Amino acid sequence: MFSKVLIANRGDVALRVLRACKELNIKTVAIHSTADNEAMHVRLADESVCIGPPQSSKSYLNIPAIITAAQLVGADAIHPGVGFLSENAEFAEIVEAHNIVFIGPKAEHIRCMGDKIEAKITAQKLGIPLVPGSEGDITDFEHAKKEAKQIGYPVLIKAASGGGGRGMKVALTEEELELAFTAAKSESKAAFGDDRVYIERYLQNPRHIEVQIIADKFGNTVHLGERECSIQRRHQKVIEEAPSPAINDITRDRIGSIASNAVAKMSYLGLGTIEFLYENDEFFFIEMNTRLQVEHPITEAVTGIDLVREQIMIAAGLPLSFKQSDIKIQGHAIECRINAEDPKTFVPSPGKITQFHSPSGLGIRVEACVYSGYVVPPYYDSLIAKLIVHGDNRNHCILRLKQALREIVIEPISTTIELHKNILDTKVMDEGSYDIRWLETELLNSK
Ligand code: ADP
Repeated sequence: MFSKVLIANRGDVALRVLRACKELNIKTVAIHSTADNEAMHVRLADESVCIGPPQSSKSYLNIPAIITAAQLVGADAIHPGVGFLSENAEFAEIVEAHNIVFIGPKAEHIRCMGDKIEAKITAQKLGIPLVPGSEGDITDFEHAKKEAKQIGYPVLIKAASGGGGRGMKVALTEEELELAFTAAKSESKAAFGDDRVYIERYLQNPRHIEVQIIADKFGNTVHLGERECSIQRRHQKVIEEAPSPAINDITRDRIGSIASNAVAKMSYLGLGTIEFLYENDEFFFIEMNTRLQVEHPITEAVTGIDLVREQIMIAAGLPLSFKQSDIKIQGHAIECRINAEDPKTFVPSPGKITQFHSPSGLGIRVEACVYSGYVVPPYYDSLIAKLIVHGDNRNHCILRLKQALREIVIEPISTTIELHKNILDTKVMDEGSYDIRWLETELLNSK
């Protein structure tokens, strides 16, 4: 097992990794920017190294500074967390080239799945059903027109290097195609330095359902059920739940097996998530994330498995501590992402938190990096806390979550707590009958 792990991240996920390390008796090293001198992950780590100024490009994305810090403290592994360098194949290679273990998949798999065009080609070869679309990148507008006609409108132009919902534009008709194509290309160039795009059929009312998988180096691959992530705003997840209220056990086994067989064929290592759109009882691959996901705690809640602990153990060369037949989905879990944002305008609201009260009780888990007196910096993602609630069944879970939302206090900055309360109060949430467009087109539009 490792003796010292450097956590190349910040916020709640840095704390999540830190706790898993401590439970494995591993020493932890926090890295941080000058904006995060007072952050919880820095306070709780055994050691910390300041690696640069507030801008991510000079700190949390600064590979030479991170490697130097790891060498300085003698870390034998680096955990990249979620976001930042967690899906950067070059980083994984550089870490390994310095004789430090990268806690994550092999660089070749990160690279292949990071390019969405290549990912779709790989997924198809592995027997995963795809959203109908173009086979490679779209070179010019005439090419886009031809492909879109063949696919059938409406279509979605997507960035090959996309992430976070950026570089994605809808064209409902051919008249809208040129603008959507040009906009997707330029947004993608600006965000990712890559203007390659591809075209997919724009599904009308799908749900986003993803499968968690895990694999060790001994060829054991297990799927841990699905997560339903259809409550979205701007293609970003707001609330996730497990299991999905839309599928039954037979469908669950069907999609779980497709995902784990595909991953086994790749000789994949570690944690991964295969994301699908689900419509009319059909699954369509959209992408694979080669890292820990923000919403991993709901899977932990319903399976009782500590995914980060397993991830670290796999990276240390150990076998999975369970097999497929050990996985039993127990009860229901829901996660609310609490962002430092206005709940109506979604404008970020960094600033000082003077009052923080965490909800508590059976089945309540809070993954937060905030405390009374903490100043939310303006430089990073606005996610400040995740509230995860587990109940005996979906109805029980919703009632428990409503109470937890009544108890939580994060003041005086604006947060999305109010939005979560509003969502939980709807009949659609109660019935679990939403799709990926419901939040934006119905709930937020109706206010
Ligand atoms: P990103 O990596 O930018 O998050 P994804 O491919 O994972 O992009 O898609 C994010 C979200 O965008 C999905 O959950 C879904 O809401 C929407 N989306 C993606 N592809 C399609 C599609 N072909 N049709 C309809 N919606 C889509």
